[in-house]
Amino acid sequence: MRILLVEDDAMIGDAVRNALRAEHYAVDWVRDGEMADTALRTGTYDLVLLDLGLPKRDGLEVLRALRSRHVNVPVLVATARDAVRDRIAGLDAGADDYVVKPYDTDELLARIRALVRRSAGRAEPVFEHNGVTLDPATREATVNGEPVNLSSREWAVLEPMLLRPGVVFSRAQLEEKLYGWKEDISSNAVEVYVHGLRRKLGADLIQTVRGLGYVIPKR
Ligand code: CA
Repeated sequence: MRILLVEDDAMIGDAVRNALRAEHYAVDWVRDGEMADTALRTGTYDLVLLDLGLPKRDGLEVLRALRSRHVNVPVLVATARDAVRDRIAGLDAGADDYVVKPYDTDELLARIRALVRRSAGRAEPVFEHNGVTLDPATREATVNGEPVNLSSREWAVLEPMLLRPGVVFSRAQLEEKLYGWKEDISSNAVEVYVHGLRRKLGADLIQTVRGLGYVIPKR
């Protein structure tokens, strides 16, 4: 999963980025509203964590521009504890939820998981498909009821596909889930992780769509 972190405070941004990375999210961090706008026009994200008070362009402005382009990426706005009006304005401008600063990291992560599953049209917290389950909260995976160890990168490749069976993901799209900016991408990384997943979860779960990418077929 790839997250755009929009935060102008260096200490807060650094702490949040590290917390998200520790949970194996790929994170792009921008520090002003113009950079956020550019990133949202050029990149594809699974979620945006948006501070509202930003240099160069206000967070609400960035959010309104995003929604006016009919981009429906989930947006979590960050506001000060006493800023009720900001939270209301954020939600009414198209945010899906809010968090108050200073962040409680566990709460932030839980809200992110909730938004990601809702944006995939799911309500259940554990994803199950063809005998494979993933629990994003505990990061436990099972196959036919047996626990299975997945590396963080195997998880990063599997989760988006398991969340949306029937949707074909290109190699480039899966690479985006794996890496933030400035991280080196090895050219066959996705193939390597898909190979590992097939070995652990069964050869039939992930299918190759020639010339297009990979899919977990609907039942
Ligand atoms: Ca700020």
